[in-house]
Amino acid sequence: NAFSNLSLKPDLLSNLTTMGYEEMTPIQAQSLPHILAGKDVIAQGKTGSGKTAAFGLGLLDHLNVKRFRIQSLVLCPTRELADQVAKEIRKLARAIHNIKVLTLCGGMPFGPQIGSLEHGAHIIVGTPGRVEEHLRKGFLSLDDLNLLVLDEADRMLEMGFQDALDAITDAAPVDRQTLLFSATYPKQIESIASRIMHKPVMVKV
Ligand code: AMP
Repeated sequence: NAFSNLSLKPDLLSNLTTMGYEEMTPIQAQSLPHILAGKDVIAQGKTGSGKTAAFGLGLLDHLNVKRFRIQSLVLCPTRELADQVAKEIRKLARAIHNIKVLTLCGGMPFGPQIGSLEHGAHIIVGTPGRVEEHLRKGFLSLDDLNLLVLDEADRMLEMGFQDALDAITDAAPVDRQTLLFSATYPKQIESIASRIMHKPVMVKV
């Protein structure tokens, strides 16, 4: 289960070696081939399973850094998790020059986020409430989005982010790829998945 067996871009692969990542974790081995093939994936796995690198490598492999548009959006339940995810994506992206990862989280001042959005980004990592607010107020456009990730989807729903998630998915192109990560798989997740995903592959570790 070596990363080198995947069809990852060479600069991503060599950076993984630098990071000391050689073997894929089970969730990576099961989900990455589907993610790289452009399929929607529902993956059940906890923190510590290596899920961040699973979707992080997927979004970085799809990304065109020359196109300075928001191409990927990762939604997380909390600011702490969003910061952690952004940090891991930046590490995975070290070999891609000029890549811009922006965090948009609630509890942070609004003004500087507007400024950052005006400067542009390739990847946004944020919490649903704040991302929805930027969308609604016209500071954020998802017209060029090709990958949407819901991280810890069960916790986002528990925290009451259902309406924000619906508004965000409505604003994203229908032909995007969607990845959903969740520790549990209750009815509520099944129902949102059936609405926002297209023929998802199910992965459980
Ligand atoms: P996560 O479940 O995404 O929070 O990742 C848990 C930890 O495992 C993080 O510190 C990652 O940097 C690390 N990690 C993820 N994938 C691998 C891998 N294939 N090899 C070694 N470490 C990894």
